[in-house]
This record gives sequence, structure tokens and C-alpha cells, in this order.
Amino acid sequence: MDTFSGLLEVNLSAIRHNWLLLQRHFAGRDCGAVVKANAYGLGYAPVTQTLFSAGCRSFFVASFGEAVALKKLLGEQIDVYVLQGCPEGVEREFTSRKLIPVLVSWAMLKRWIAHAESAAPFAIKVNTGMNRLGLSIDELSSWLDSLTEKPAVPLVALLSHMACADEPEHPLNDLQRQRFADIVERVRARFPSVQASLCNSAALFLGNGWHFDLARPGIALYGGREGVPSSIDIRPVVSLALSVIQTRYVLKGECIGYGATYRAERDMHVALVAGGYADGILRSLSGAAVGVFRGHQLPLLGRVSMDSCVFDISSIPSQSRPSEGHRIKLLGGDGCDLTVQAGRAGTISYELLTRLGGRLQKHYVEL
Ligand SMILES: *Cc1c(COP(=O)(O)O)cnc(C)c1O
Repeated sequence: MDTFSGLLEVNLSAIRHNWLLLQRHFAGRDCGAVVKANAYGLGYAPVTQTLFSAGCRSFFVASFGEAVALKKLLGEQIDVYVLQGCPEGVEREFTSRKLIPVLVSWAMLKRWIAHAESAAPFAIKVNTGMNRLGLSIDELSSWLDSLTEKPAVPLVALLSHMACADEPEHPLNDLQRQRFADIVERVRARFPSVQASLCNSAALFLGNGWHFDLARPGIALYGGREGVPSSIDIRPVVSLALSVIQTRYVLKGECIGYGATYRAERDMHVALVAGGYADGILRSLSGAAVGVFRGHQLPLLGRVSMDSCVFDISSIPSQSRPSEGHRIKLLGGDGCDLTVQAGRAGTISYELLTRLGGRLQKHYVEL
């Protein structure tokens, strides 16, 4: 057993709590869950089974491969939306597996319609201002105009994605909401039962005007707080603890780590822990991260290496300092909250989560 390897604990009860909280907050009909990228790095099977048992039935993934894996797990009982849409030539695979492609371009829509005499359900994404994926409003309008009175094609959902939902004051938020509401109304004239879907996690907190019918929260399920007001009880999901391999006494003036970027300003006690950028501890956390041991906050000194990093443990009284085999927490808890730690790395919780590496021991807990 690899006893020094970092311990990544994933709290499934917290995921369940977070989904139920978002579902209650959501004023629409159907609160789904985004589980792309292996459920933001935390593991498809346990995460999706937890969400399913909480009542979630609409799942969003990025790719065909992810969708196939998810269908294998939860089968007929769920709707799986594929956010990248349907690549050319894979239409039949989508329909036979009952996957719902989110068609993102005019070319993709034309191909699907030409193929889909089978009347297989699909969704369309429309661009309302992010200018990433999606048909333009004009393309969608002209398609609507071209339809005969009673379109046979089963359009089940209309999606758009918010560019700045984590900045509540950003003027683009209201502009996207208005553009989306207008096009939803026009689509509904043709497809009365289409589900409109605009909200990622942060957009759920912009106001009911953004909610529509179907929500697509991701990061908040996993404990990320970007765009989530502090009053909302989103619970931490991951906890990452790294094993101490060695402690050492470093004399004033000595350097620590690659590039000798840190020079001791006083004599100090330090702990070297197993876990580095190969485990997803981003190199941009060099000189910036804070670890926690028994309530003490410990600055990370110098550069993060591939397999290790170093913490200053001088502030801890000698009798309670960590030694070989003890674990220092890097994520999850006071002083090392996921979103705060991501900020120290100059990034967002999404990146920190999805980079957590395969060398970590992953434990699923229900607390
Ligand atoms: C990833 C993604 C989401 C989820 O966003 P969060 O900010 O993680 O809640 C929703 N919709 C689309 C289209 C996405 O790509």
C-alpha cells in the first residue's frame, strides 16, 4: 500500500445536500446536474448514483464517451444531454442509446434533422451573448420560420449558457436573460412543451427571472462557491490531506526547494509532504497555498515540486507539531476552503477539482 499518498475524501452526503438545496432554491420544474469530466474529477459512478438517489433525473455531460459511460450506469431511468452535440456520423449511436444531443451549430442541426426520421429527441443550444457554442438567434429563427405548421421533430430542450453569472452586477446577465426569454417564446409557439434551460450554478442566484424550466448546476454540487452568495449553505465536498514524509530544521538564510525562491528569514521548522503538481497541486500554488494542521494555518514555502511541497510548521508548539505520517490538509475546511485555495492559485475551483490526480487515494464517505 502506498501509505504516503495523499488522501482525497469525497463526501457524498454533502453532494446530496447541495443538490437538494439547489433543487429547492430553483423555481423551475426540473433540476438536473452537470457531471462532465468525471463529475468534475470526483468519479462518475459514486457521484451520479448519489444524485440519482437524491431524485435527479436529468444529467449533462460534455461528450459522447461520457454519455455512454453514464447510460451504462443508470440506463433508461435518466435523460442524458450531451453538451458538445453530435459529431458527424455518430447520429445513429445517439439514437440507439437514447442520448439527447445538444445541437450547437446550424450544420449539426441540419445533419440531425436529415438523419432523424426516427423522431429521436434532441436539444438546441442558442447563443445569447457568450459567443462560444450555439446557433445564432437568426439561424434558429429562420429554422423556425421554415418549419411546416406541425413540426414532427421532437425538440425537447432549448439551452443557452451564461458568460458572467458569477458577477451578479454584470450587464450581460440581463441582456442574455432577455434575449433568451424572447427566443424561448418564439420556440414555444412551435414546440409548446420545450424545456428552457439557462442556469448553471451561479445563475440560479441571479433571480427567478433566470430560472426557466430546467437547471444545469455543476460546481455548486461539488462545493465550489463561485457566484454562490455566502448565506447559501453549500457544503464542502472534497477534503485533501497530504502525508508528512520528513520534517526538518532550516537555518536562517537557507533556501527551500527548486530555484531557491524561498529564503528563510529566521530559523524555522518545516514539513515536507508527499503531493505535488503531478497530483494536481497546481504549481501556481507555489508560495501561495495555505495548509492546515490541527487548526494551525501553514504557509507553503517555495515551489511546488512534482511529488512534494513544503510547509512552515514553526507556528505550531513543539509538542503538537506534525511528524512523519501525519497529514496536513490542503483542501476542505477552515483556512483551506476549495474556492479560497483556488483563488490563491490564481484560478477557480473548477480547475483545481478537475486536476486532482489519479495517484491520490480516493475515499467516498457518507457523513
Ligand atoms: C459546465 C456547464 C454547466 C455547469 O456550470 P457550473 O458553473 O459548474 O454550474 C452548465 N451548462 C453548461 C453548458 C456547461 O458547459
